[in-house]
Amino acid sequence: MLKDKFGRRFHYLRLSVTDVCNFSCDYCLPDGYQCDSDRNFLGLSEIRQICAGFADLGTKKIRITGGEPSLRKDLPQIIQIAASTTGIEQVAITTNGYRLEQQVDAWVDAGLNSLNVSIDSLDPRMFESITGHDKLETILSGIKRGLDRGLKVKVNGVLMRQYNGNELGAFLSWLKHTPITFRLIELMETGDNKDFFKLNHLSGEPIKQYLLENGWSPVIQNNTAGPAQEFWHPDYQGKIGLIMPYSKDFCASCNRLRISATGKLHLCLFADKGLDIRPYLQQTDTLELQQQLQQLLGDKDATHWLDQGFTGATKHLAMLGG
Ligand code: SAM
Repeated sequence: MLKDKFGRRFHYLRLSVTDVCNFSCDYCLPDGYQCDSDRNFLGLSEIRQICAGFADLGTKKIRITGGEPSLRKDLPQIIQIAASTTGIEQVAITTNGYRLEQQVDAWVDAGLNSLNVSIDSLDPRMFESITGHDKLETILSGIKRGLDRGLKVKVNGVLMRQYNGNELGAFLSWLKHTPITFRLIELMETGDNKDFFKLNHLSGEPIKQYLLENGWSPVIQNNTAGPAQEFWHPDYQGKIGLIMPYSKDFCASCNRLRISATGKLHLCLFADKGLDIRPYLQQTDTLELQQQLQQLLGDKDATHWLDQGFTGATKHLAMLGG
């Protein structure tokens, strides 16, 4: 089993399958993806080994992320590999939704259970100004298609003072009739966005207080849940969540590990470096991989130290899939 020295258990793997992203979000890749890194991304047989090795160590949920995972032509095969791994109960994807409408059927057919889509604004002009793409409408249609196909859908929006700081009302109106969970993520500081962060970081705490004072109640979570605090309301079909990485005890419930698109294990989103596990993916069984993973986990820190401005090796979150 994957357990660290602080007693945290790891049931959840975030697997990045590419660093490349076609969006240029102001807080992440404002100048678009720059091809300055190793683009020798994990192949299907390596992905199969990762899924099997983690599953044998108790992982139950795999999230496929990027960069933008839908830019990989073999994404349905990747989903299929994860979904058919013994022990894996949930396969999820995080996407900007650019290709959702055309591709979601193939993902569901391959075994996808749940879908996270990033939408930072419900105002099409603001959406375009943040991402560089006038795609909000087609992304919303893709979400509808995903819901029709039975997917559990979550939408993530990064909370930013100068962009969507006053959109809570619009998000809540959407949730009235839409059976999704919308999660507001506090903007995180990364190596590349320090000035943007200073101008735009907003705490989710006042929103939490507003929700609690207006009939929203906390949802009880299970152990494969993410780090969001979620809330429900009897008059709303959707739920709302807050991801507040700067809040006290955020890391105490950490249950996830990350693999980069080039096969590096990241013990934390803001770790100093990735630990190369690629050599162990070339073998016929996963025994050595499992031993390595257990050993490397010994170095996992108690917390990310983000509140003190340490952003580790993470220049932007497209490197690791958020
Ligand atoms: N391309 C996919 C997408 O757009 O969802 C997956 C990768 S993206 C890096 C994953 C998530 O990280 C997105 O929801 C994005 O908004 C979020 N993200 C990126 N940079 C962030 C930051 N500095 N602070 C908080 N969230 C961030």
